[in-house]
Amino acid sequence: MKGVFPIKTFETTDTPFYYYDTDLLRKTLRAIIDEIGKYENYNVHYAVKANANPKLLNIICQAGLGVDCVSGGEIMAALNAGFSPDKIVFAGVGKSDKEIKLGLDKGIYCFNVESIPELEVINQLAEQCGKVASIALRINPNVSAHTHANITTGLAENKFGIAMSDMDDVIAKALAMKNVKFMGLHFHIGSQILDMGDFVALCNRINDLQAQLETHHIKIDLINVGGGLGIDYNHPNRVPIPDFKSYFETYAKHLKLRKGQSLHFELGRSVVGQCGSLITKVLYVKQGSFKKFAIVDAGMTDLIRPALYQAYHKIENISNDESLETYDVVGPICESSDVFAKAIDLNECHRGDLIAIRSAGAYGEIMASQYNCRPLPKGYIKEEMI
Ligand code: PLP
Repeated sequence: MKGVFPIKTFETTDTPFYYYDTDLLRKTLRAIIDEIGKYENYNVHYAVKANANPKLLNIICQAGLGVDCVSGGEIMAALNAGFSPDKIVFAGVGKSDKEIKLGLDKGIYCFNVESIPELEVINQLAEQCGKVASIALRINPNVSAHTHANITTGLAENKFGIAMSDMDDVIAKALAMKNVKFMGLHFHIGSQILDMGDFVALCNRINDLQAQLETHHIKIDLINVGGGLGIDYNHPNRVPIPDFKSYFETYAKHLKLRKGQSLHFELGRSVVGQCGSLITKVLYVKQGSFKKFAIVDAGMTDLIRPALYQAYHKIENISNDESLETYDVVGPICESSDVFAKAIDLNECHRGDLIAIRSAGAYGEIMASQYNCRPLPKGYIKEEMI
């Protein structure tokens, strides 16, 4: 089964470009809203890092989600798309003074603080502006997510967060500061996680940490568990919407929230991943010594995930239904890693055929670069193509 696309419009549009099925995005957002509506005090902040296309941000904002930003640029993108500052959380191991001041100036909901030096700088800068910054401490829970090593973040060896052993000291410091308000704890164990057991392990760890804090009579208002829910890259047509029901149920069942506490999620990939496809054209079909190459006009500059993480994306020839042939699908960039897939079956490719690289809505367009002096790919939403 292949995806359904407005091929006629594609045929007259310069390739490569990203195409976003906004009907699917809206259905995905509805599924999230319906699920969190079953619980008290559940809040989802869309992780802008997954895709900051203003047209998508606008739709996500209208659906009522908050945002998770990791730079001043993302805060501005979120504000420009209409998100209210009191729905913005700001994470990142290396926030610059300028970015912290921007967050203070705009009055964002919460800074997710990743180290003692950062906490001290936020307190100082807040004092200078005569403000009090709401903060959560990002704790590194040393919980493994069974995902690619490059997208695991919650192990002690990773650069993210404050070590659990330092948590009590850092909280004591935060509580003594005049210009920060300690709100709670933040976690994020990794991305593209499909095994709910990993989230259960995180819940168990948070339950222990909360019990430990209570022995010191420390109460917290919020828990932010980050993002990480994966999507089905193998079956974008069969499983277009991730299993949000199981995801939120896992937290409802295993995380012991105290009365009045709010729970925050920072979902990125699971919100936008399946609605995006990278559309590219076959430039040449080349018979090598051992294999056949479909050389397309998109490259790793447009979608870097296969080169960076050996990520799998389903690829479809959407121009014809001829018999299947085996190809390596490669781009035009002067790097041997510029390969989208090796030895995959596609309907026979001809020069000019349109190819859809599926499940490319997250960490696709936003990671594009201009290496080889290439233009950045454009992103179109369904409404612009029909
Ligand atoms: N929150 C934080 C702190 C992150 O680092 C990330 C991704 O790296 C996310 C949320 C979003 O993760 P995902 O796209 O897997 O939901």
